[in-house]
Amino acid sequence: MTDDQLALTDPTKRFSHITPQRQQQSVPGQDARLNPSPDHGEESYRGTERLTGRKALITGGDSGIGAAVAIAFAREGADVALNYLPSEQVDADHVADIVRAEGRIAELIPGDIRERDFCAELVSQAAEALGGLDIVVNNAGHQIFTEDLEDLDDEQFDRTMKTNLYAMHWITRAALPHLQPGSTVINTTSVQAYKPSPILVDYATTKAGINGFTKGLAMQLAPRGIRVNAVAPGPIWTVLQVTDGQPQDKIEHFGENTALGRMGQPVELAPAYVFLASPESSYVVGETLNVNGGLPTP
Ligand code: NAD
Ligand code: MG
Repeated sequence: MTDDQLALTDPTKRFSHITPQRQQQSVPGQDARLNPSPDHGEESYRGTERLTGRKALITGGDSGIGAAVAIAFAREGADVALNYLPSEQVDADHVADIVRAEGRIAELIPGDIRERDFCAELVSQAAEALGGLDIVVNNAGHQIFTEDLEDLDDEQFDRTMKTNLYAMHWITRAALPHLQPGSTVINTTSVQAYKPSPILVDYATTKAGINGFTKGLAMQLAPRGIRVNAVAPGPIWTVLQVTDGQPQDKIEHFGENTALGRMGQPVELAPAYVFLASPESSYVVGETLNVNGGLPTP
């Protein structure tokens, strides 16, 4: 944050209240076309050398929360490898420009993480380009709303499971041989893990699964000096919401049900990932850090 923003700031007013118009995009969408533009921290995130020399792989690092994490990590001194789908090159280039302007490496590795072989290649290419790996952020996600279970076909169910759960398993497993003690794995779950929407049954199932995966794996890897944690965002203004993540009529008032009364911006997630990646959180293991504007969770 800039000095102005570090001053006493009312969280209900840190960002102006936005009421986006209807705007449809097809999956995975382009952040560059989102209106209004989200804040990924391009101007607002200020680093304080908390990740100097670290080497991070971030999935879904082209846009939304992943883009904010990539920018913050670079400002904190880390090199990053970003994965995304090939159609998202414009967004990935935008993030890479900012990372490189910090003098950090941005290795761009497009490809589909629903494929196991690609997940293995992704990890080895990232480790090769960065000279190792010590942070893995499993952040890519697929979310399409479906009103009725009868309409939730196997193709969508499979896509949601593959993207949100299988890829997390494949990427983390492939990364393990690279992860020295002190390394961290951070998974993106969701408030949906605790408060599933009736129209997001498959998605909410994966997000609850991510919490289980995170806690179980955290117990397994802690003795090896590797910490595993998760971040659970609430309603955040990203392209996920306009690519059928929500019905269009929900977008305008998205986030108004939070205690802060507004949706969050991607940059507001970044400090949670920085905290969990850095040694400052050395005693935090198997935790899910909620960043949701005030939607109390268990
Ligand atoms: P986003 O669309 O900007 O990011 C999701 C990314 O997932 C895409 O950019 C894409 O690169 C990646 N992805 C999807 N399918 C892929 C595939 N098959 N192969 C490779 N990459 C793939 O939206 P976001 O909101 O920043 O989402 C990031 C994470 O945050 C997701 O896990 C999402 O479930 C989670 N989340 C978002 C919200 C929210 O309100 N926006 C709330 C809770 C959780
Ligand atoms: Mg994207």
